[in-house]
Amino acid sequence: MSAFANGLILSNLSWPELSEIQDQIELVLLPVGSNEQHGPNLAMDMDIAASSEFCRRASAALQPSVAVAPPMPWGVSFHHMNFPGTITLSSETFIQVLVEVMASLYHHGFERFLIVNGHGGNIPSMNVAIVRAKEEIGMTFVGACSYFGFADPDIRAKHEKTEHTGHACEWETSVAMELAPPVVKKNTLAPGELTDLTTGFRTQLQKYGVQVPYRFDEFTRNGALGDATQATVEAGREIVESSLQNFTGFCQELIRQHPVHSA
Ligand SMILES: [Zn+2]
Repeated sequence: MSAFANGLILSNLSWPELSEIQDQIELVLLPVGSNEQHGPNLAMDMDIAASSEFCRRASAALQPSVAVAPPMPWGVSFHHMNFPGTITLSSETFIQVLVEVMASLYHHGFERFLIVNGHGGNIPSMNVAIVRAKEEIGMTFVGACSYFGFADPDIRAKHEKTEHTGHACEWETSVAMELAPPVVKKNTLAPGELTDLTTGFRTQLQKYGVQVPYRFDEFTRNGALGDATQATVEAGREIVESSLQNFTGFCQELIRQHPVHSA
């Protein structure tokens, strides 16, 4: 069995171990998440637990060419701050940390970076971070994605059982059952207690892509959307397998499309 059959996790290596393997590493994945409420259904660390495990599995499938950087546990989660336990960084701090982490790894010779996000609220800020990284650092490749964007659309549709999903819902809870079982609060799974805003005006906002910085308690009284009681581990496995297959294929193509030109 290869030394990295369980994934090539950079923070688990000594520096001589890293030096030995470094020229075989083509791409560094940066898991990012959030510590935020997920209703009564999931623990606060769901988003970083899921994105880290997703990256680890992708790295294991593609080792030793794909490595995983230390996970970034904090995200931009102002909209969940009315629920106890949520922690948020400012967008500026979040962006700065990502840029400095990539600058450090670039300093050590890594050339391709892909942020792999687990929290929708991080998307605007991580998109700024990759522009700054490209302009200020100048690595061969930098990109950002969310692990939940890689499932085949028909598989996603099949496992969304209710109309208003997207957080601590049946889809995310199914994924948690497969990727991060300890975060699932099996005894307290509950449907979202949706407000009129969610079933009404929010559908128009989504239809037209209009952004409004509502707090999450304006959407749901218990912090969840959808119906987590309809989550199953079988659904989670199907979603994760589809996502990982698409993601690993994408990583290989990314490496092919962006050759590193040595000076
Ligand atoms: Zn989440």
